[in-house]
Amino acid sequence: LVSREAKTEKTLVRVRDAVFGGERVVVIAGPCAVESREQLLAVAVRVCRAGACMLRGGAFKPRSSPYSFQGLGREGLKLLAEASAATGLATVTEVIDEASLELALDYVDMLQIGARNMQNFSLLRAVGRSGKPVLLKRGLSATVEEWLMAAEYIVAEGNGNVVLCERGIRTFERATRNTLDLSAVPLVQELSHLPVIVDPSHATGDRRLVVPMSRAAVAAGADGLILEVHPEPENALCDGVQSLSPDSFDRLMAELQPIAAAV
Ligand code: PEP
Ligand code: MN
Repeated sequence: LVSREAKTEKTLVRVRDAVFGGERVVVIAGPCAVESREQLLAVAVRVCRAGACMLRGGAFKPRSSPYSFQGLGREGLKLLAEASAATGLATVTEVIDEASLELALDYVDMLQIGARNMQNFSLLRAVGRSGKPVLLKRGLSATVEEWLMAAEYIVAEGNGNVVLCERGIRTFERATRNTLDLSAVPLVQELSHLPVIVDPSHATGDRRLVVPMSRAAVAAGADGLILEVHPEPENALCDGVQSLSPDSFDRLMAELQPIAAAV
């Protein structure tokens, strides 16, 4: 179902005003985790003003350590809905199991399946049945074929609103958090009609690399970007090292425009 043989024309995935797979590059921005009303509203206002069309923020965090901040849960979802009402931005949040999925359905516009759950097949079927747009991250060590098969699980449940997200893969290289597989973008666009976006934040793990890799992703033809932005990256509860400040996000957005126009 997700292959170009099954459908030749590109799929457009609409999430309120955002259209993935169309002419414009869709930028999703926001903190790794929703931490507080002040934090989320401050960053939502800034990314909206800079031209982002969607707000990200984790309420359920699948952290590598069980002792790290796990997210605010339902309180975080409520804050996302509040930030959306205040700015008009559509929202995306990660769901990690069927319980968090049930909760998220009432509060957000798009569901994210994280890298660690890319092959959680019962969760994939459940987001498929939900009918909500899905952002499907590539697994830490998933091949392109496995990634597309994960999308197939969702679409097979009758939900064709799937956006794929390249977020770096695990390789021998430890100098960066992951290795951004940028060639997967044009490759997957060749193999599948689904939109493909890039997450330079998790791919690099280093805010200095996020800017050049965002430029490269847009130049490679990505349908969008998802970027971590925090009002005070040095005080973030999660992924501060890879988070942009609102000021650097402003500069990046201005730099991306001419690149997007040239692709
Ligand atoms: C995230 O987007 O905050 C996240 C946990 O990403 P990934 O699943 O790609 O590691
Ligand atoms: Mn993160």
